[in-house]
Formats: sequence, C-alpha cells, structure tokens
Amino acid sequence: MTERKPEMAQRPAPRVTPQTAAYWKAAHIGELLLGACAECGKLCHPPQSVCPFCWSSNVATRSASGRGRLNAFTLVYQSAVPAFRERLPYAIAYVELDEGLYMLSNLINCDPDKITVGMALKAVFEPLNEEAGAILFEPA
Ligand SMILES: [Zn+2]
Repeated sequence: MTERKPEMAQRPAPRVTPQTAAYWKAAHIGELLLGACAECGKLCHPPQSVCPFCWSSNVATRSASGRGRLNAFTLVYQSAVPAFRERLPYAIAYVELDEGLYMLSNLINCDPDKITVGMALKAVFEPLNEEAGAILFEPA
C-alpha cells in the first residue's frame, strides 16, 4: 500500500459498477484480481463474467502475484487534470504480469531517467475512496 502525499490531489476514482465492484474493492485492500476460467483454465484481466476465450460463464477470480515486467512506457509531460498535472512527468506503463497478462498502469517511485523496458515491477495500491483503489507499479 502506498500513501498519497497530502499535498497532492487525489487521483480520479473509477466509476464502480456491479460488474467491477469486487475488482475495485480488492484493489482498495491491496489485491490485484484476475479472472480465472473454470472451463478452459485461462486467465483474463480485468476479470469478466464471461470468459473471453471460450465464452463460459463459469469464471472465478484469483489474486495475481502483483509482479511483472515493464513491456513499454511513455512519459507524460502535460495534463489538464490537476491530480495528474501535479505528478508530471509521469510514466504510463504497459506491464506484463508474471501470469502472462498485460495491463496499463502508472509507474511510480522511479526517476523517469531510470526507466527501462524489461525492468522488474511490483504492484502498489493507493486507496481512492471507500470502494476503490488505484493499481500502480514501482520498481521491484
Ligand atoms: Zn474459458
């Protein structure tokens, strides 16, 4: 769990729906959930009620390790959103999870000049409100 610096604006919170509530609540308590199909055994991210590979609705969730590698990134130098403007420049990271899935996130706690493709990352979580948390990554 990472704590937001008090002088920084809160990151925007996601719009939580009945379909995404468990995912965001898990992120709020420091857990990254994946969908796990009981029929074909494949994982998906984000978790979905229907498997995107075999269309089974027999899909559960499981925790990801929170570990992965940086597949690609871009640095952002301008933003009209105060919560992001305060964090400039920041890195948008395309992360390959150890489970073989990919997700977009932000890379934090890392000097932009030290970011390299392939670097080991671990998930960190920032509470956004009572029902959701941000899933971010930092160097492992
Ligand atoms: Zn499936």
